[in-house]
Amino acid sequence: MTSLSFAALGLAEPLLRALARENYTTPTPIQEQAIPKLLEGGDILGIAQTGTGKTAAFALPILQLLAATGTKPRPRKPSVLVMAPTRELAIQIGEGFKTYGQFMNMRYAVIFGGVGQSPQVTALAKGLDVLIATPGRLLDLMGQGHVKLDETHTLVLDEADRMLDMGFVRDVRKIIATMPKKRQSLLFSATMPNDVAKLSQEILVKPTRIEVTPAATTVELIAQSVFHVPASQKRALLENLLEDPALARVIVFTRTKHRANRVAEHIGKAGVTAEAIHGNKSQNARQRALAAFRDGKVRVLVATDIAARGIDIDDVTHVVNFELPNEPESYVHRIGRTARAGASGIALSFCDQEERPYLRAIEQLTGGRLTVVNDHAYGAENPAEVESSKSKPAPQRRRRRPSRGNTKQAA
Ligand code: AMP
Repeated sequence: MTSLSFAALGLAEPLLRALARENYTTPTPIQEQAIPKLLEGGDILGIAQTGTGKTAAFALPILQLLAATGTKPRPRKPSVLVMAPTRELAIQIGEGFKTYGQFMNMRYAVIFGGVGQSPQVTALAKGLDVLIATPGRLLDLMGQGHVKLDETHTLVLDEADRMLDMGFVRDVRKIIATMPKKRQSLLFSATMPNDVAKLSQEILVKPTRIEVTPAATTVELIAQSVFHVPASQKRALLENLLEDPALARVIVFTRTKHRANRVAEHIGKAGVTAEAIHGNKSQNARQRALAAFRDGKVRVLVATDIAARGIDIDDVTHVVNFELPNEPESYVHRIGRTARAGASGIALSFCDQEERPYLRAIEQLTGGRLTVVNDHAYGAENPAEVESSKSKPAPQRRRRRPSRGNTKQAA
């Protein structure tokens, strides 16, 4: 496949300079497809998840078009609105605009709930080109008269599926209803369930549909293995794996907030720097934990699916699925944290007896089998052995190695 350069996509000099500074040499597939369409002013329906380079795919042409119109930032009336479901994602999008727009005269702000509103109100009053917001706080500030969208000519709805999952659809509709009908609109979503398709029909006009399939491409770059291990042995297995310094920057996923805390505490006691992030932590605590992880002060980040959504941290060496997700799509999202923008990565999954159906669903979705790791000492069971031990009790059957604490499982 021939790859175009960013210049060939029609991007202007200040943007090319910023990209060179960030060492981006080649556009990702979504950038290659979306940038020219957006520069022409068309609407886009992007089926893509975080990790595909979608932020730059929309931020770069938006910045270029903004510079071309030359409108000055007006108090309370942003030219561009980007809506994101979570604070973390909103902050990351803001950082993207800051990076790509570093050689341009562009004013942006990020607003979200859970923190005081006055700095946000001040930023809005000074005037903005680009406003990045979560729907709840935005609606709140609109209600108070701090923002008006009647002159906002560009709309981006990012992670629309997650936005709907989180119950923001009414807020999103209310917000969009106040915008001009004549505008450029972009909707990005990792998946396309019916309700997202319906929303996209409402807000997009003759969109170009761009689908990038990280589910296949990202997954291919990641070495994926599974440890069959009883739930009671998972913490010991994790601790054992962490003795290997190759696990330098690790995200561990759990299904629940409670488990995230417990796992972080446990490995912390074993002398490994770890932090948990999940929805029960304050915004400040989450930001602190993320920053410490990003700076390498914390080696392990233990996260729930929602909290990890949209986290953008490069050089994650390993993703550990301490518990398998019950939705196979989450597996793809999780392991994608370790293969950012084309890098390869390693994903290790712990699967106990009750999680076997989740494992099957994951293998069905990704179309491949995870490599089974047999040589570990934590109640490793060959799934075939377990199946056969269930169907025909074999009292004299010798186990290959002493079982440690797996009485719940086999027998
Ligand atoms: P995103 O999907 O927007 O969250 O981007 C994922 C990661 O890829 C971010 O860390 C970006 O900085 C990085 N990235 C985006 N586009 C490129 C590119 N063309 N070359 C190298 N890295 C990129």
